[in-house]
Formats: sequence, C-alpha cells, structure tokens
Amino acid sequence: MRTTVERRDVGPRDVLIEIRYAGICHSDIHTVRGEWGPIAYPQTVGHEIVGAVTEVGAEVTRHAVGDRVGVGCMVNSCRDCANCQAGQEQYCLAGNTGTYTAVDRDGTITQGGYSTHIVVDQDFVLRVPESIPYEQAAPLLCAGITTYSPLSHWKAGPGTNVAVVGLGGLGHMAVKIAAAMGAEVTVLSQTLGKKEDGLAFGAKHYYATGDPATFEKLANTFDLIINTVSAPVDMGAYLSLLRLDGTLVAVGAPPEALPVQVFSLFGNRRSFAGSSIGGIAETQEMLDFCAEHGIASEVEVIDGDAVNEAYERVLKSDVRFRFVIDIDSIR
Ligand code: NAP
Ligand code: ZN
Ligand code: ZN
Repeated sequence: MRTTVERRDVGPRDVLIEIRYAGICHSDIHTVRGEWGPIAYPQTVGHEIVGAVTEVGAEVTRHAVGDRVGVGCMVNSCRDCANCQAGQEQYCLAGNTGTYTAVDRDGTITQGGYSTHIVVDQDFVLRVPESIPYEQAAPLLCAGITTYSPLSHWKAGPGTNVAVVGLGGLGHMAVKIAAAMGAEVTVLSQTLGKKEDGLAFGAKHYYATGDPATFEKLANTFDLIINTVSAPVDMGAYLSLLRLDGTLVAVGAPPEALPVQVFSLFGNRRSFAGSSIGGIAETQEMLDFCAEHGIASEVEVIDGDAVNEAYERVLKSDVRFRFVIDIDSIR
C-alpha cells in the first residue's frame, strides 16, 4: 500500500539519497508480518538500498552529490562501545539503529528503502563500485554482507569445504562469494530444481536435502556450513555433516527456536554459531571484493505494485534469486 513517510531534514553530517532500487529481503517479510514481534505501522521496510546522492550536509566529507551509494541494514550505532570501536557496529552494545523499525536519534521510527528518498548519516553510507549495475548491487547491502562476513570470519578459501543451505537471496550470494574466495562449494537445497543455477554461480556440488541419502553421503564433510534457511530445519542433521572442528553458522532467522542436542556437537568438536550482517568497513570491503571478482546478485526487477506478489513467491522459494524494486515505478 502506498503511503507517505517523512524523512528528517539533512543535518550537517547527513546525506540525502535518491533511491533507485531496493531489494526484497526475507527479513522484510518476517518484519512486516510481525513474525519477529510486534511493530508500529505504517512501516516501510527495505534495507538493500542503492541510489545517487542528491544533497550533502555542510560537514560531509565522505560523499558528494552524484555519487553512487548504498545503505544496508543499519543507519547508526553508538560509535563508542567496544564493538563499535572494533568496527563491528552491527554488534553495537547499545544496539545498532536498524534501517527500519528502530527508534532514530530524533525519536522517530526509522523507515526503510521501499521509498523514493532516505536521509542517512554519512558514516553509514557505502560507495557502490561503478562496475556493478545499481539493481544488481542492491542485494549486496544485506544478502552480500550477511554471507561475506561469516565466510571471511571462518576463513573460507582454498582447501576449505563450504556448504550453503538454501539457494535463495542470501544463499546464492554465499555460493558466489565462497567460490570467489576459492572454497569448494556445495549447495544443499530442498530439491535439485535450481541445480544449473547453483553450479553456474560457482558451486562444485549440489544435493537435495529432501533425499535422506544426501545426509549419509555427506556425513563429516564440511569445514563450514552457512545455513540461510528462513524456516526451522533439523540442526542435528546439518551438524552431522561437519568434519573435525567444523562450524555451522546460522544466518537464516526463523522466529522459532532451533533445538540442538549437545551430542551432535561432541563428535568432531563441532561448533554451532550465528552471525549478523557485517560492519560498515567490512561492507565496503565486500562491495569492492564483488567488483574485483565480477560478481553481483541475480535479480528480478519488479514495480512497486508487485511487492505483495513477490512476497508470496519468496515464501514459496520461487525467487531467482532476489526481487529488486525499481523505485522509479513509485516516484
Ligand atoms: P529467501 O530468499 O527466501 O531464501 C531462503 C531459502 O531457504 C529458500 O530459497 C529455500 O531455498 C530455503 N527454504 C525456505 N523454506 C524452507 C524450508 N521450510 N525448509 C528448507 N529450506 C527452506 O530468504 P533470504 O532473504 O535469503 O533470507 C534467509 C533468512 O536469512 C531469513 O530468515 C532472513 O530473515 C535471514 N537474514 C538474516 C540476516 C542476518 O544478519 N543473520 C540477514 C539477512 C537475512 P531452497 O529452495 O534452495 O531450498
Ligand atoms: Zn536483509
Ligand atoms: Zn556501539
């Protein structure tokens, strides 16, 4: 539904961005449907935002009018706590300010990117490399960084065996990034329906999790598993696929608990971990990495009036591989 949201005036350290494209992340769906808890409406979501700078505040040094820029999942943090000081603003101990549904410094509720403009502090605005088309860059601001960060932290690279569970928005970026890092990548998808795509993105192997034989065949195989699934799945079954000292990282965020039997961690000294988006410097590093390796998101561009239909398709795992809204269609 179309509505009008107010943005704050451009402050001395703010950047006004004319949004060109906004990706649809499954988190937008969890959020607007209240799956992660109640929210205040009206609420505009969207945290995969790209566009051009149209105005800058007097003290802005990092961006200039005309620059191609992006905004991801957060628009501020305290900057002072140990985690902010370490460049891990996503883990700000005072809570980072989410791009949507968060209380902004002026007391208003932040509103996301399914909109024509946004005002953001310069420090939370990323540079989008020239070589990446806007629409393919948008999903990097969440799906890209959310998968790059754990792949980088747990050192995916030559000689490591990485599995990606779920080939949706996050999953397809995980495959491309892990392959570009030099890892041997396996996709674990519900069916073999997207096998050709997965192999084209750089995966070496592709298995259907609907087939119980997959779990027997791949037991004790992976150094790192990135679980991007938006619904609860059997963690024990996936943990059994880790080899010695392997780690299963949860990035998918179903509202339900994911129970784990400790015995599934004892074998092979396995770890079960989680990871949330990435820091601002790391997000820039990811954008530059994608440009350098010639990778970006596979997108289906839609008009603003097709968002509800796109949500239904995401819920049916019928997305190849990210819906991106052409914001000109709502201008
Ligand atoms: P998506 O495009 O819908 O992808 C999720 C994929 O999971 C689907 O394409 C499907 O892949 C698989 N899947 C869905 N339902 C399943 C089920 N019942 N059983 C098994 N597999 C299933 O979603 P997304 O945008 O990539 O987001 C994925 C999750 O990550 C969401 O929960 C989102 O909120 C979360 N997220 C977390 C962070 C973070 O910072 N940690 C950031 C962004 C998003 P196949 O068809 O290949 O099986
Ligand atoms: Zn997201
Ligand atoms: Zn902080």
